[in-house]
Amino acid sequence: MRVTGYKSHGVGAAAALVNAVTGAEGDDSDDALRDVLAGHGFFVEGFTPATAVQLRPWARTLRRFFEAETLDAAVELLNGLLTDVPMHPHLADHDELGLHVHYAPPEVDLAHRFRATTLMNLSELLCDNGIDRIGVCAAPDCDRVYADDSRGGRRRFCSDGCANRTNVAAFRARRRDG
Ligand SMILES: [Zn+2]
Repeated sequence: MRVTGYKSHGVGAAAALVNAVTGAEGDDSDDALRDVLAGHGFFVEGFTPATAVQLRPWARTLRRFFEAETLDAAVELLNGLLTDVPMHPHLADHDELGLHVHYAPPEVDLAHRFRATTLMNLSELLCDNGIDRIGVCAAPDCDRVYADDSRGGRRRFCSDGCANRTNVAAFRARRRDG
């Protein structure tokens, strides 16, 4: 079975939305949230201020998933959300992907489609890789979340910038101490 943008579409969109809405340096304006969705392959023609109003609490909910400290906690959170968000799978064939499954039919509103897709893609990530692939950036001054769908799965930072900054600081501390 092929699912829309498996692992890159909803997972990346979820992390980006959480960072936009809950991050200390995030931008949760209507325009910024529309850009997050458009940048991750969602059709945003139906985006309205009401969509943004629905997406902000969803971002705060998903942050708890990225912050989960045990697999059991992550599973319990997702199972609760899977009960709350109605799923109506729908076959679509609208682009170069060919025939594929959407988790919500085209007539539901964009916020609902976004909730269904992010929830299912995060569930798939958890099933395939457990909790090690999600987290909050290890840089001491960064609160951004990440999801790692790389082959190696060793990611601990939200970005190369945070990884480099933290490694340089650790190197300098070692040299100072030594
Ligand atoms: Zn970071």
